[in-house]
Amino acid sequence: MVVSKSWTMVKHFAGAPKPEDFKLIEKELPPLQEGEILLESVFLSVDPYMRPYSRRIMKEGDVMIGSQVARIIESKNSAFAVGGYYVGNCGWTTHFISNGKGLHPLLSEWPGSLPRSLALGTVGMPGVTAYFGLLEICNPKEGDVVLVNSAAGAVGSVVGQIAKIKGCKVVGSAGSDDKIQYLKEIGFDEAFNYKTVSSLEEALKKASPEGYDCYFENVGGKFADAALPQMKDFGRIAVCGAISMYNDAVPPSGPYIQPTLLFKQLRMEGFLVTRWSDKYQEGQKQLLKWVLEGKVKYHEHITKGFENMPAGFIGMLSGENTGKAIIQV
Ligand code: NDP
Repeated sequence: MVVSKSWTMVKHFAGAPKPEDFKLIEKELPPLQEGEILLESVFLSVDPYMRPYSRRIMKEGDVMIGSQVARIIESKNSAFAVGGYYVGNCGWTTHFISNGKGLHPLLSEWPGSLPRSLALGTVGMPGVTAYFGLLEICNPKEGDVVLVNSAAGAVGSVVGQIAKIKGCKVVGSAGSDDKIQYLKEIGFDEAFNYKTVSSLEEALKKASPEGYDCYFENVGGKFADAALPQMKDFGRIAVCGAISMYNDAVPPSGPYIQPTLLFKQLRMEGFLVTRWSDKYQEGQKQLLKWVLEGKVKYHEHITKGFENMPAGFIGMLSGENTGKAIIQV
């Protein structure tokens, strides 16, 4: 009999998630039926979307939502062999039974030497978000100036590197001096620590006195208030996230943006990566190729131990991670 451990959300988060908002439960899994497989999670993902979506789609007591790279440890389904690795979307859980629906194999060209955890990061959902969000919404051209915030994170670090591949000048912001150092190492032209600059406006102007053609928005709030007026005419803004506001029960009121959008003739568009579900693999394959060619570098912030999953999630939301935040079971 296999015992599965899961983390549940005891009560809806009020402000930033706290350790006492989570509870570890254990459940004995039943024997497999014909057509079923048993998987064990090897790597789990902690992502910012879990904070706003906990309120939208979860009830108190539910297992936390999320995805994992999992290995098949028992199979009664001839299409799924024991030992195979799949990306699942089965929540914060160590073991689960599946009929195979909704499980995605790692790309067939995945080399054994590459960490499988990248299927949750640079070559997974965050990477694909960066790929399509940047290329299809910001539509960067050679020579454009691209701005990205939360730049040292899973999505932002890929956005900046793809923009460099496309011949752009790239400016990034992040929340520590170590992260700024990392951004320089992976090829950002300019980077600043938004927590220590005396003025966001001045830092943005200094990094690109001529303004910005593209703005890949991960943060929202005060950062956006400072960045929008510095867009060039006909600039493009991809609204990917608003992490500075995820803990707010009521969004803070900000400056009205319509005059800026109007007189600069800007285009601003929100998106969810699910928009590109039909060509998700195309993005993954390109990202894998770039990683293997060394054109896109990756960094992972790995928290060891399933028991530390809430801490890894809380830490990611407060900026502990450089690159993708991963839990290794
Ligand atoms: P990251 O790896 O970037 O981790 C989150 C980071 O957010 C932290 O490390 C921290 O970095 C930063 N952060 C936290 N609080 C604040 C704050 N108040 N102000 C500024 N920065 C803050 O996460 P992801 O790369 O996975 O996600 C980045 C963004 O992309 C999020 O907004 C997320 O919701 C969004 N997203 C959207 C998707 C879509 O389909 N639209 C899909 C995937 C992600 P720092 O030290 O720099 O503060």
